[in-house]
Amino acid sequence: MSQGPSYAYFEGKIVPFDEAKVSVMTHALHYGTGAFGGIRAYWNDDEEELYIFRPLDHFRRVLNSGKLLMMDLPYTPESLLDILLDLLRKEGYRGDTYIRPLIYKSTPAIGVRLHDLDCDLTMFSLPFGSYIPNEEGSRVTFSSWRRIDDNSIPARGKITGAYANSAFIKTDAMNAGFDEALVLNQDGHISEGSAENFFLVRDGVAITPPIYANILEGITRRTVIQLLQDELGIPVEVRPVDRTEVYIADEAFFCGTGVQVVAIAEVDGRPVGDGKMGSIVGKLRDVYFNIVRGKISRYKHWNVPVYGTQG
Ligand code: PMP
Repeated sequence: MSQGPSYAYFEGKIVPFDEAKVSVMTHALHYGTGAFGGIRAYWNDDEEELYIFRPLDHFRRVLNSGKLLMMDLPYTPESLLDILLDLLRKEGYRGDTYIRPLIYKSTPAIGVRLHDLDCDLTMFSLPFGSYIPNEEGSRVTFSSWRRIDDNSIPARGKITGAYANSAFIKTDAMNAGFDEALVLNQDGHISEGSAENFFLVRDGVAITPPIYANILEGITRRTVIQLLQDELGIPVEVRPVDRTEVYIADEAFFCGTGVQVVAIAEVDGRPVGDGKMGSIVGKLRDVYFNIVRGKISRYKHWNVPVYGTQG
């Protein structure tokens, strides 16, 4: 798991990873004027195949983030997928992998702005397992930080500068002995976790905050909404969620590409439900992991094979 990338896509071609270097004056490094994606690919042992999960959805979001940042990028979701396939085949991974595309204002320039700057793309991948410990029963707190508002930095874009907010949230939670934190938005309702979307379950209904709660438009969130309804027969309500609703919820969980689906066992020292992973979260995790690994044929349109499509 400690092995890093051997290659990166950088300045228009795949290069040895150590050659992918930027100037210390790069605009994005100073002003947070970049945006990124986080994609997973899962190894399917039976088929000896690496499946990328919903890459075109991820690349669409990356390019939309570029639009928010006024970047003129010569890519389509499909051309980004071609780059990714080349990269993964060159790495030759036979195990679970994380992929990081990053678009950034590349001009070495001083001066805060979005305009009159070049932009570029880099992409690399690395072997990757769990993102947070205690996936079947994480301990969570409410952060004293607030989520950045869409009118401050657009939450729907994965804008690098906005992740300083996530870093404050995550580190303070971990320093206080928790695995993760929930964040409230400016009006006091739940937004999401530091880098994952949030659901709770009450009386057999799954509830998740709306996009206008300053959440990232999560691809896992979208996946999970569909799976809860179609696979588990659980209705989903998208509506503002009060902090105290979590204290009386039957179940709660985080979801995201990195965390995958993580049960929340405890919030601010209060057990969620009976303090153990609930049955709905447990079933959702099972079906999710089978789908991402390409084991359920009716969802195979979400799995892009890396090696099987090699011509
Ligand atoms: N919210 C934030 C702030 C995130 O960084 C992420 C991870 N990308 C998510 C939610 C989950 O999004 P996705 O399911 O698309 O990975």
